[in-house]
Amino acid sequence: MTKYQGKGVYGAVAIGKISLFKKQDTAVKRIHTTDTDHEKERFEQAKTLAIQQLDEIYEKALKEVGEANAAIFEIHQMMLEDEDYNDSIINIIESQNVNADYAVAVTADNFADMFAAMDDAYMKARAADVRDISNRLINILSGNTAVSHHSDEKLIICAADLAPSETVSLDKEKVLAFVTAHGSSNSHTAILARNMNIPAIIGVGDEFLEAVKDGDEAVVDGFTGEVLLHPDDESVQTYRRKQADDEEKKRLLLELKGKENITKDGRKINVYANIGSVDNIGAVLLNDAGGIGLFRSEFLYLENSDYPSEEQQFGAYKKVLESMAGKKVIIRTLDIGADKQVDYFKLKKEENPALGYRAIRICLTRPEIFKTQLRALYRASVFGNLGIMFPMITSVSELERILAMCAEIKEELRSQHVEYAENVELGIMIETPAAAIISDRLAPMVDFFSVGTNDLTQYTLACDRQNPDIEEFVDTHHEAIMRLIEMSAVNAHKCGAWIGICGELAADTALTETFLRMGIDELSVSPTFVLKVRDAVRNIDLS
Ligand code: PEP
Ligand code: MG
Repeated sequence: MTKYQGKGVYGAVAIGKISLFKKQDTAVKRIHTTDTDHEKERFEQAKTLAIQQLDEIYEKALKEVGEANAAIFEIHQMMLEDEDYNDSIINIIESQNVNADYAVAVTADNFADMFAAMDDAYMKARAADVRDISNRLINILSGNTAVSHHSDEKLIICAADLAPSETVSLDKEKVLAFVTAHGSSNSHTAILARNMNIPAIIGVGDEFLEAVKDGDEAVVDGFTGEVLLHPDDESVQTYRRKQADDEEKKRLLLELKGKENITKDGRKINVYANIGSVDNIGAVLLNDAGGIGLFRSEFLYLENSDYPSEEQQFGAYKKVLESMAGKKVIIRTLDIGADKQVDYFKLKKEENPALGYRAIRICLTRPEIFKTQLRALYRASVFGNLGIMFPMITSVSELERILAMCAEIKEELRSQHVEYAENVELGIMIETPAAAIISDRLAPMVDFFSVGTNDLTQYTLACDRQNPDIEEFVDTHHEAIMRLIEMSAVNAHKCGAWIGICGELAADTALTETFLRMGIDELSVSPTFVLKVRDAVRNIDLS
C-alpha cells in the first residue's frame, strides 16, 4: 500500500478501481510510409469500428433524448460512408504515401472548410459533424479511447489535469472520484466535481501518475486529500466506516429539508444553488435549494461542437425555469475564455488569458453571439422567474452597452409579437476589484449584484486561480476581499439592489456569520452544500 497526498476539493470517500484518463491528442502526425495498403486497411477497420460505436451511441441517445435528437448519429454513419469523403482519404494515402490518421485529418479540414463556406445554414452546420466523425476515426486509429465506454463499473478517474470541457464530456454515471496530479482548488474542474457530488483530489503529483495503471485498487479520501494505492484490507474497512459515517451525516442534514434559512434571532436569507447544466436540477431539488443563484450557461457551449442555436438555448433555459416552478433562476450569460476554451470560438492563444479576451468582452465584441443568447433568455422568461446576470464587469460603459442591447432585444421581440416577461431582474457579477470599487455607480443601474469570489480573489490578490504552486498565498479570507464585498453590499442596499455571493466562498461556513453581518441577502452554493449552509445559518445568533 502506498499513500499519496494531494488536496481534497470535495469531501467524500471513494473506494474502487482506477481508470487513467487518456488525453485526446488532437495533433495528428504526418508519417511517411511505403506500405499504403496497410494504411488503407487500417482506415477501413477504423471506419467499421466507428460505425459500430455510432450504433451504440444511437441506441443510448434514442432512450435518453428521443428519436429526433438521436438522428444525428445516423447522419454521422452516412457521412462516414460518403463516397467523396472516402475517396479523399484514400487519395491522400496513395498520392502522398502517408498514414491514415493524417489523411483523415487533412480531409476533415478540407471538408469542414468547404461546408463552413456554404450559404445554407444547414450545410454550414455540417462542418462540425465532419470534424466529429473524423475525430472519432483519428481516436480509433491512434488508440485513444478515453474512459472505458463498455464497463458498467464506476471508476476513479486519474489524469495529469482535466480541462472543463474534458470533465463535462465524462459519463457522470461512471465516475467514482477524480484524482489529478496537478490543478488548483478554485479551477472549474474542481467546481464541477463539487457540483457533481463526486470526491475529488487535486495536486497529488506526477509520482502518483507514474505509479498507477488501469484497474489498480485505490481509496480516495476527499476530506484529507489522501489517496491510498493498493490499500490493505484493514484500510479498506476503516474507509468503509468513514464512508458510512459521512453518508449518515449527509442524511442528517437532509432532515433540514423544508426548513427555513433563518438565524436564531430571526434574520432570513436565501440559499440558492449553482449549476452548470440542466442535468444538475435533480440535485438542486433534492437538496431543497430556494432557487438557482448561478447557472453557468457557458457549459451549454462547452458541451456543443458548434454555437448552440437560439432554439437549443431556449429549450435549455425553459426547462430550468419550468423545473424550478416559479422559484428564482439566475442565468449568467456566456463566460467563455481563460480556462474555459471552446474550439469553435477560435480564440487566439493569449499570454494572460485570465486578463484577456473572455466573458462579457467576447459578448460585446461579437454581438451576434450575445444577441442570440439574450433572445433565447427573454423568450424563455415567460416560463418562470428569471434573472439575467453578466460576468466580468469592470465599467459603467460596459453595463450601459449591455442594458442597451437588452432593450434592443426586447424591442425586437415586441415588434415580432414574441412574448417575454417584463419582470426579468438584471444583475452583474462583482468579480473584479474595479466593479466592487465603483459599485456605488453600478448599483443604481441593476436589480442585484452577485459576488464571484473565485475571480474576485484571483484579481484582488494577483493569484492565478489555475496555478497550484501559489495556493499557499491564496488567503480566501483576506481583509481586502472582505472589504470589497462589504463595500459592494453597502452600495447595493443604498440603491435598493440586493446582493448575493455565488463564488465558492459562499459555502465556507466559517464566514457565514460575517456575510450575514455585512447584509448579504443570498448565498448560492453547489447543490450539495445547500443544507450545510442552512445548518450554519440556523446556528447563528446576530443579536
Ligand atoms: C466566480 O468567479 O466566483 C464565479 C462564480 O464565476 P466562475 O467561477 O464561473 O468564474
Ligand atoms: Mg468568475
